[in-house]
Formats: sequence, C-alpha cells, structure tokens
Amino acid sequence: MYRRAFIQKTFILGGLASGLSSFTPIKKSHIITLSFDDGFKKSFYRIAEIFEQFNLRACLNVIASGHLSSYKPPTHYMELETGNFDDWNLLKKRGHEIMPHSWDHSDLTHMPLEKAKEDITRCLDYFAEHLEGYDAAKAVYNFAYNASNPELEQYVLGKVVAVRSGGPTINPYPRTTSKFRLGCQSFGPENADPWLKQQISRFLAGSGGWLILNLHGLDEEGWGPVSSACLKDTLSQLSDLKHVEVLPAGEVIARVLKNDPTK
Ligand SMILES: [Zn+2]
Repeated sequence: MYRRAFIQKTFILGGLASGLSSFTPIKKSHIITLSFDDGFKKSFYRIAEIFEQFNLRACLNVIASGHLSSYKPPTHYMELETGNFDDWNLLKKRGHEIMPHSWDHSDLTHMPLEKAKEDITRCLDYFAEHLEGYDAAKAVYNFAYNASNPELEQYVLGKVVAVRSGGPTINPYPRTTSKFRLGCQSFGPENADPWLKQQISRFLAGSGGWLILNLHGLDEEGWGPVSSACLKDTLSQLSDLKHVEVLPAGEVIARVLKNDPTK
C-alpha cells in the first residue's frame, strides 16, 4: 500500500512562466515546506511548538473525519489519537496552517471516479463548516498516499487553489498562475531523519526552487516519523541561512497570488 517514494508523471495545470518572469514575490532562492500529514494529536501539538520556537508556522494536513467514530485508521501506523476541529482551530489561531488531507484517508485512485469525487466534496464541505476562516481560494488539498490522477486533480482544482500529490520534490517556484499542482515525496515506514537531512542537503546544494517534503508524525508516531531532535536541529540550521525560508504550502501560494499582477 505504501511506496517508498511516490513519483508520478507530473501534469501541470498551471505554474508555467507567463512572460511576467521579472516579477519576484519571494526574495529567497530556496523555499522549504515540511508538509505534515494525518493529524496525530500529540505529534501535531509538538510540531507546532517546535515551529514556534523558531517563529515559524507549521504546515499541518488533517483527515476530515479522523476524530469521528466512523473513522477507521487504514494502517496500524495510524492507530493513534487524532485531533479534532477544536484542536485544529486552536492551532490555526496560533498561526499554523491546517489543510485538508482527505475525508477518511481512502486511496481515491482505487475508487470509481464518481465515488472519489463525492469523497473529496465531503472532505472540503466538512472543512468549510468546521475550520474557522477556511478559504477554498487559499486551500491546498493533500491527497492521501499522494495518490491521484489527472481527473481527480482537475476535480479538486475546481474547488481549491492547489493540490499536493506525488512528484519530484523540488518544484519550480510558481509565477503568475491560477491553479497549482505541488509535487512531493515521503519516506517510511522507518525513521525518516536521515532522509530528511539528505533531501535538504541536496536541495541546498542546488540553485533553488521550492522543496516540498511530506512528513507524518514525530518520534514514534506514524509512518516514517522524524524525531523531535532532528526537526528542531533542521529548523535551527535553516533559520540561520539567509537565502532560505521555511513556509507552509498555502502561505507560498498566498504570496504568489497576492503579488500576482494578473489578479
Ligand atoms: Zn496520510
């Protein structure tokens, strides 16, 4: 069910340079998003605390029904206490980004298309109703298992501004565009500390762009966890680099849109 690396053929709905390339909304050459999935209560509060120690905002993606009695964790890695929307609203008020990560963590590519669309709609409707300040025009939908296809992505992009799914981790920095398809990869099931460090080192050695790494829980929690110590050490190192900025995915999109002269 899980794959070590999720690499799918990238299809691009937007994100291509449009002739306005002299416009640079973000000044840093290297943008890094650590995109945490699955909504484990203990880990997500801890992740938020660690990001706050560096005056950063965490990128937290949660399962819409994860706190409901109907929710059945799809793997044993996910049999942990999940937060509810009181938790998510609290963390959002503290400045962190809360984004949708499916209705119930089903693999939508294994469902009939119409059923998958219903799942997506149910997830996004639940967010609209329960997450304070939810704005579809700024939302990033994060596919469970990073599993999607062009039909599903197209459908989601009719409802939110961006999707995150499998693909090369280094994304070109988005210029003027209206919809965004963000690529990422994850690593597991064992501890992902060495992988995280290696991905970041490789990115920093290159010319730049937007690195998106998909992580899950902290320490012993979830599939491919990173240790608290590694996360803290990584953010500490990155905070010292003048050409690097650590941002949640929706914040990057918001900056692009805010500065987009075509809007
Ligand atoms: Zn997940």
